[in-house]
Amino acid sequence: MISMSRFHPPGTPVAVLTTQPLDRALDYRAPAEGVEDGAYVEVPLGPRKVLGVVWGTGTGDWPVEKLRPILRILPVPPMAQPFRDFIERSASYTLTPLPAMLRLGLRAPGLGDPPGKRRVYSLGTGEPDRATDARTAVLQALRERPGDVFALSELADMAGVSTSVVKGLVKSGAILEQATARDADYPTLDPKRPGKTLAPDQGEAAQALRTSVKSKTYGTTLLKGVTGSGKTEVYLEAVAEALAQGRQALVLLPEIALTAEFLTRVEARFGARPAEWHSGVTQAERRRCWSRVSTGQARLVVGARSSLFLPFQNLGLIVVDEEHDTSYKQEDGVLYSARDMAVLRASCEGAQVVLATATPSLESWANAELGKYKRLDLTSRFGEAVLPKLATIDMRDADLPGGRWISPALQRAIETRLIAGEQSLVFLNRRGYAPVTLCRACGQQVACHQCDARMVEHRFLKRLMCHQCGESAPMPPACPSCGVEGKLAAVGPGVERMAEEVTALFPEARVAILSSDLFGSARSLKAKVEEIAEGGADIIVGTQLVAKGHNFPRLTLVGVIDADLGLQGSDLRAAERTFQLMRQVSGRAGRAEKPGEALLQTYQPEHPVIRAILSGDEEAFLREEAAQRRAAGVPPYGRMAGIVISDPEAAVAFDLGNALARNTAPLEEIGAEVYGPAPAPIARIRGRHRVRLLVKAPRQAPIQPALTAWVARVTVPRSTRLSIDIDPQSFL
Ligand code: ADP
Ligand code: ZN
Repeated sequence: MISMSRFHPPGTPVAVLTTQPLDRALDYRAPAEGVEDGAYVEVPLGPRKVLGVVWGTGTGDWPVEKLRPILRILPVPPMAQPFRDFIERSASYTLTPLPAMLRLGLRAPGLGDPPGKRRVYSLGTGEPDRATDARTAVLQALRERPGDVFALSELADMAGVSTSVVKGLVKSGAILEQATARDADYPTLDPKRPGKTLAPDQGEAAQALRTSVKSKTYGTTLLKGVTGSGKTEVYLEAVAEALAQGRQALVLLPEIALTAEFLTRVEARFGARPAEWHSGVTQAERRRCWSRVSTGQARLVVGARSSLFLPFQNLGLIVVDEEHDTSYKQEDGVLYSARDMAVLRASCEGAQVVLATATPSLESWANAELGKYKRLDLTSRFGEAVLPKLATIDMRDADLPGGRWISPALQRAIETRLIAGEQSLVFLNRRGYAPVTLCRACGQQVACHQCDARMVEHRFLKRLMCHQCGESAPMPPACPSCGVEGKLAAVGPGVERMAEEVTALFPEARVAILSSDLFGSARSLKAKVEEIAEGGADIIVGTQLVAKGHNFPRLTLVGVIDADLGLQGSDLRAAERTFQLMRQVSGRAGRAEKPGEALLQTYQPEHPVIRAILSGDEEAFLREEAAQRRAAGVPPYGRMAGIVISDPEAAVAFDLGNALARNTAPLEEIGAEVYGPAPAPIARIRGRHRVRLLVKAPRQAPIQPALTAWVARVTVPRSTRLSIDIDPQSFL
């Protein structure tokens, strides 16, 4: 669907949408050379120059002579019409102001810099004339990432020094300063290279996906396949088809740190590596990606959720791998689900979506049941690999002393693997050393002073950290409440404490911890994962980080310390999440020739969710879960929106909540109900008191306009923040 881009002759009024928080596009005068719709431009706004995009013809409300002119058209191809449609539709879907949505699309570092202004820095060959700690830190940071070039502030931040330190090193030649490297083209991917020979069921699925991509229309397919069934091999065929058509493709991965293996597979399949877009790549590299995507030269992008806002010219396919993954939901700033926005973007672009997973979200599963999505199934693991055996360990029989969490049965299982030279994973979805630090003198728990949350001890970092606001403090020698020394005690386990227990039980084993907070950068995590995959550890102790799509070929045992952990909350999706997580984690075992085993420690082996996990009958579980949600009228069989009001004063937040609860006419019109206001489960974050309301509406109800009308009835005080989360995933 190519729509003609409109050209605005010189001197005519054009609308320009900027990223400034205004409620609409502003009129400007087209420059002497005229300007096209979608052009990236620089315009004056008050005393400043700001970036914007030409968003159609101006209103004409002002005489043209009175309009300020567009100052500069940036030398990049205009934003394509489907992308502009996507920005508008995603803004109205998520109730996000258009400028905030546009900002997501302008995240190319240095996009607005005048030509030739940017400089980049890399490792030089000279020796510093004088060595200081700060200088050593900069050079060390550069040595860790050979070949990469950085912006000045980026490099200074990485090394934790001021920019003058970097500049100082340029003089001696220890650091090389260059004008921005021209954004180099990516190597060409060759879709005609032969892929792996597919098994019959894989071949059928791949063919179906190729046919969909060939149609050059929008469509979504749920590709459900047990872990190790070859989903990646199959969707790479869809990528090949998009590339063969000369179109672009995007593969979204949830845990971007774990893409190393994926990049290697792309290279093996297409002869070159794709473009990457995520927080782990340098600004220069991100800039290159944005630029090459905008010209259509970068044909395949592998990225995190924000890559959905790259300026594709000709997008034919979006793959959302591990589509059920909760990290696809952006939980601050613009609240959006990358999975849902992928579907929206594809429908704007006339592209296909593949949602790949072993454990579909109930949303996607229900859409497939309704026939809105196509569905393809891969039911067995590829080759020799078989699914792991699952069993529970009844912890009521384990009779462990205090401070110990590994049952004798699990201990024996790990021992067996150690003797056989195989890897084990001890899984606990809790970061840090202990979730609670208790004073044995006064009985108080150490809490965050700005949040309604406990401080979590991180023993490696020797600090207490708040998992809500990120606040951290050195481990205090005395209790902050009563001042008594030496009485603080760790209560309950986190992964760090599990690693301690594992080391005590198996002193001769090499133990590795995988937890997101232990790695300074995506890159160091990536390196660690690779080292482990190659056999660099006997026992891995990890959080959900390890559940996400990485192959550890030597791993044959997964021991889940607390399978009940996720079931405790009252969250709508508690059962679904636990089911998914347990299936995913168990799926890490036995990916190669050796069969795997997963042992789930539980105090409630009779719990329906635990039984469903063991039986492995996903369809039965999903049907049962669907029936319950349908009866309750909750997603995906009803719509929801979460409203969070926060203010330094609890009473102010409550007053606004009550005013909303009294004024529900616009919601009543669409048959929606309002619950609350109530204190949020985490009633205070960063010193702000939080109040929640929940709106529940019938499935087909037009919830966005009703919410807009509803919120417009109250006045939000200046100190107060009100955020609306459409389709909330988290209820904290
Ligand atoms: P999934 O994405 O479903 O977990 P993968 O695509 O990662 O599965 O496949 C699991 C393993 O099996 C990978 O190492 C992959 O290379 C291998 N594999 C899958 N299909 C084939 C095939 N047709 N030929 C050779 N190896 C395959
Ligand atoms: Zn806090």
